[in-house]
Amino acid sequence: MARGFTRRCARCGSGHLFVRWFTMVEDCPGCDLHFEREHGYFAGALAINIMAAIIVFAVAFLGGLLLLWPDVPVAGFMVAMIVLMTAFPIGFYPFSKTIWVAVDRAFLQRLDSTETLDEQVGRRSAATPVTPPGPPRSRASGPSSE
Ligand SMILES: [Zn+2]
Repeated sequence: MARGFTRRCARCGSGHLFVRWFTMVEDCPGCDLHFEREHGYFAGALAINIMAAIIVFAVAFLGGLLLLWPDVPVAGFMVAMIVLMTAFPIGFYPFSKTIWVAVDRAFLQRLDSTETLDEQVGRRSAATPVTPPGPPRSRASGPSSE
């Protein structure tokens, strides 16, 4: 779970998941995990980004008011807030994606019967370290295969 906060793969901890700041690789270079499991998968990342932005805004707004009170430079304060709320989601964007993958792998994958659980992946590779990994996860029964 913590791996999501360092922009690493939630399953194997591999880094280098981003080609550019906004461009995430499709599959993990370490464990071949395909990140975008379905179309619109990263809507969850967007939700995380928005929630994080709201929290940051609340903290910055209240903290700024407390620090500056009673002589709050209203115009400058508003500009600072606008800059912060523009810059934060951009800077946080790749983190929101890996955090979402971590949340997905921690909780939501258990709802998907076609998914191979991380524990099973880890156990299999730990038990048989010499043999190549087993057959790739079944994606044939998925709803779509673009
Ligand atoms: Zn991985």
